[in-house]
Amino acid sequence: MPRERACRVCKAITSEDKCWNCGSTDLSTSFSGMVVMLVPEESEIARALGITKPGKYAVRVE
Ligand SMILES: [Zn+2]
Repeated sequence: MPRERACRVCKAITSEDKCWNCGSTDLSTSFSGMVVMLVPEESEIARALGITKPGKYAVRVE
């Protein structure tokens, strides 16, 4: 199973070589916290983190 990494640009968590959300390849294996965003439009956490698309995100990326 591929290791999950978090995008340094938008904090999306991916197991691919590039971010599914913004397309960046600037990925980090060092991240903490995880939020699953289903309806970002209705979430204050999503707003605080700048999340616009549903998916899995890290709270903090090193
Ligand atoms: Zn990204």
